[in-house]
Amino acid sequence: MNDFAAQRERMVREQIMGRGIEDTAVIRAMRTVPREQFVLEEYRDYAYDDSPLPIPAHQTISQPYVVAYMLEALDLQPRDRVLEIGAGSGYVAALLSHIVAEVHTVERHERLVWYARERLAALGYDNVWVHHGDGSLGWPPAAPYDGIVVAAGGPIVPPTLKQQMKVHGRLVMPVGKRGSQTLVRLVRLSADDYQHLNLGPVKFVPLVGEEGWGKE
Ligand code: SAH
Repeated sequence: MNDFAAQRERMVREQIMGRGIEDTAVIRAMRTVPREQFVLEEYRDYAYDDSPLPIPAHQTISQPYVVAYMLEALDLQPRDRVLEIGAGSGYVAALLSHIVAEVHTVERHERLVWYARERLAALGYDNVWVHHGDGSLGWPPAAPYDGIVVAAGGPIVPPTLKQQMKVHGRLVMPVGKRGSQTLVRLVRLSADDYQHLNLGPVKFVPLVGEEGWGKE
């Protein structure tokens, strides 16, 4: 076992399983994806730390536990098609690639679109599509989705995203102020009925877009 594999195993044991994550598909994905390949080279030695880390364009790769918590809350099934808003480094998309059938991820910073694409291609992921655009408007060409995960915080759940959920689909997103949010989970019960659950306080970078925060 190389050093990174040992660190990854310890991260999964202590930060993920140790804090109550039980979804076996999520655990298996976190055991598999080399997070050190998604962080900036100068942060590789910290890849399995219990914290977010900087990536280009002043964005961050989220804390592993928060990622696992959000993915577990999505209640994912192997045949699902999932939309992620905020590809960032591509790490979460790589995890999703192991758990579900098809992954679409949207990123507004072109530099990160290429950063994520390069890493996902180098590792051979072939069921992930990284799109460039404003993810507060979702990704209509592949809608509707079984699961939608938003990796940036907005003032409300964008109505357009709610429309892109399948009936029985799930959405997880940080909602609140620019500096602090509540993690929200929606389940679409029918065409116009959504179950809403608050999962607790979180801190994410802002969702910047038409149905998010205005341009900085
Ligand atoms: N999931 C990422 C972390 C994402 S950080 C990872 O695994 O590394 C949040 C990302 O959301 C940032 O890259 C930011 O540029 C992006 N973002 C913010 N607003 C967006 C929008 N409206 N559409 C698409 N991406 C957006």
